Amino acid sequence: MKIDFNKNGDGLVPAIVQDANTKNVLMLGYMNQEAYDKTLQTKNVTFYSRSKQRLWTKGEESGNFLNLVDIKNDCDKDTLLISVNPVGPTCHTGSDTCWNEKNEQSFGFLSELENVIKNRKENQNDEKSYVASLFRKGINKVAQKVGEEAVEVVIEAKDDNEELFLNESADLLFHYLILLQAKGYTLNNIVEVLKSRS
Ligand code: AMP
Ligand code: ZN
Ligand code: ZN
Ligand code: ZN
Repeated sequence: MKIDFNKNGDGLVPAIVQDANTKNVLMLGYMNQEAYDKTLQTKNVTFYSRSKQRLWTKGEESGNFLNLVDIKNDCDKDTLLISVNPVGPTCHTGSDTCWNEKNEQSFGFLSELENVIKNRKENQNDEKSYVASLFRKGINKVAQKVGEEAVEVVIEAKDDNEELFLNESADLLFHYLILLQAKGYTLNNIVEVLKSRS
């Protein structure tokens, strides 16, 4: 791979480290040719530390190595994107990422919706909330709603009214998320099962 190590005149390129699974950004480091070669050889991400002024294998003291999955060069060959499986927390502060974030799987908007639903479960006495009222009625009632919405999807699947089909599909997914929460599970639990099958 042709990497432009001399763009900044210091023989270094920035290396963005990303979790191969969650896609979260874990940290930023710098690599010279030697660090890059060592990373490929050892499969443990190695930087050139500007403060230590030597090669630095992340995890060399803490044991929190970054196991190499893949390295990509950017459009003009001056920035690396490094995909890893982290052995432990990446930041020396003990945080998962260097921006003090948890390295959690996120499903974007669905995860936001999941959080709102979780909130309603924890505040079930909220009189104005439909979701809270479902939680108050209990798991069997929630499961029954999922069944009803599933039947509605089946009915709309036979027709060619796209809007109705999409709306019933959204109802089903929404009520399914409520059922998962009522049972104490998350979307991630289901994704893990699906992944284990493939
Ligand atoms: P480690 O490579 O995890 O054994 O940590 C060795 C030393 O490198 C630590 O004591 C910190 O000074 C530094 N260090 C570790 N992780 C990071 C990081 N994510 N960003 C910057 N410096 C770090
Ligand atoms: Zn670039
Ligand atoms: Zn850090
Ligand atoms: Zn419906």
